Amino acid sequence: MPRFGRGRPASQPGDGESRPERPQPSARAGRGDPSERPQPSARAGRGDPSERPSHYDRRAELIRRTPLTSTGTVRLTFRVVDGRPFSFFPGYFVTVESEIPGVGRRHSPYCILSRPGRAPVFELIVRMVDGGDRSAYLGSLKPGDVLGFRGPGGHSMLPRNQGLAMVLLATGVGIGPLLSLSSELLSTGFTRPIRLFWGLRLAEDICLTDELDALADDHPTFSYQISLSQPPPDWKGLRGRLTESVPPLLGSLGGIDYRLVGNGAMTEEMAVALGDMGVGKEVIYREAYFNIRHKADPAVLSAIRSRFTASDLIAPSAIESGDLFHLERPLGARRRLPPKEQ
Ligand SMILES: Cc1cc2nc3c(=O)[nH]c(=O)nc-3n(C[C@H](O)[C@H](O)[C@H](O)COP(=O)(O)OP(=O)(O)OC[C@H]3O[C@@H](n4cnc5c(N)ncnc54)[C@H](O)[C@@H]3O)c2cc1C
Repeated sequence: MPRFGRGRPASQPGDGESRPERPQPSARAGRGDPSERPQPSARAGRGDPSERPSHYDRRAELIRRTPLTSTGTVRLTFRVVDGRPFSFFPGYFVTVESEIPGVGRRHSPYCILSRPGRAPVFELIVRMVDGGDRSAYLGSLKPGDVLGFRGPGGHSMLPRNQGLAMVLLATGVGIGPLLSLSSELLSTGFTRPIRLFWGLRLAEDICLTDELDALADDHPTFSYQISLSQPPPDWKGLRGRLTESVPPLLGSLGGIDYRLVGNGAMTEEMAVALGDMGVGKEVIYREAYFNIRHKADPAVLSAIRSRFTASDLIAPSAIESGDLFHLERPLGARRRLPPKEQ
C-alpha cells in the first residue's frame, strides 16, 4: 500500500455531540438533484414540522482555508454561527447558497469531510473546476466570511449491517464522505475490514494522506490505496481508473457493503458491473457528484466484468450467457430469461 508520510491522529469526538435520527442508506442515491431531496427533519415524519429546527437560511463562518493541492483542491473549515443544532451522519451534505454575478442565486450540495463528532465545526473539500461558478465562489471565501447554506441533509452512509466488510471507492473529492465514514466507523468500534480505493488523475492531486495514514496506523482493519489514471513513471501505487485497477484486487465480492462516490461514470459503471457479478443492490450505495446521467457503455461494462477475479457469487452475467444449468439460476435471473428458455 502506498504511504505518504506519518500523520497526526484522526480527529477526536467533541463534547456535546447531538445525533440525528439514524437514517438508512438508499441503494440508489445520487440520482437527480440532492439539494431538492427532503431534508432530514422533513422526512422524519413525527411531530409538528414548525417545531422542528429549520434547515433553511443557515449561516457558518469560514475559520480556515487550507489549500490541499497545487491542482485546485481546498479544505474549508466552517463553524456554524446561527445558534441552531447542527448534527449529521457521514454522507450528509450542506447545500451552499451562492450569488453568482450575472446568473443569480445558485444552490449546490457539498458533502461533509469531517466527522460528526466535530460539529458545530464542519469541513468541506472542494475542487475548483474549470469554468465552475460555484466552486469558484467557495474557493474565493476568506476566513471571517459567512456562508449561507441549507442542511445538513442527505443519506447516511453508515452500514445497515455491521457484520459486513466495507469496500469504499472514491474519485476526486468523493473522498470527503468516505473519509468521514471511515473515521467515524473506526472510532466507534467497527471491527470489519474497511478497504478504501481512491482514484485521482495526477500525483499532484494526492492529499489528505496524513489522515489516511493515521487511520491505517491506528487501525489494522483499515487500508487504502490510491490509483492514478495518469501516473508518473516512478509511481508505486495502483495505475488506471478505479474500474481498471480495483476489480482484480477484490478476492471475494460477497459479505461486503460498497460505497461509490464521485464521478458519475465511475459510480454507474462500478454499480452496474458489481450487480452483474451478483452483488445485491441493497449493499451498493452510490453518490454521483457530476456526470450524474452517465449511461454505462455495454462494451465498457463487459471489459470491467472481465477484470473481476472473484467467483464467490452467482453472477447474472454468467447466467444470461447460459453458463449455469436452468435450475441453478436464482429466481430473479430465471424471470429475465426469454420465454423459450423457461
Ligand atoms: C451530493 C453531491 C455532493 C457533492 N459534494 C461535493 C464536494 O464535497 N466537493 C466538491 O468539490 N463538489 C461536490 N459536489 C459537486 C458540486 O455540487 C458542484 O457541482 C461542483 O462544485 C461544480 O460546480 P461549479 O458551478 O463550480 O461547476 P459546473 O459549472 O457545475 O461544472 C463545470 C464542469 O466541471 C465538471 N465538474 C464538476 N465537478 C467536478 C469535479 N469534482 N471534478 C471534475 N470535473 C467536475 C462538470 O461536469 C462540468 O463539465 C457534489 C455534488 C453532489 C450532487
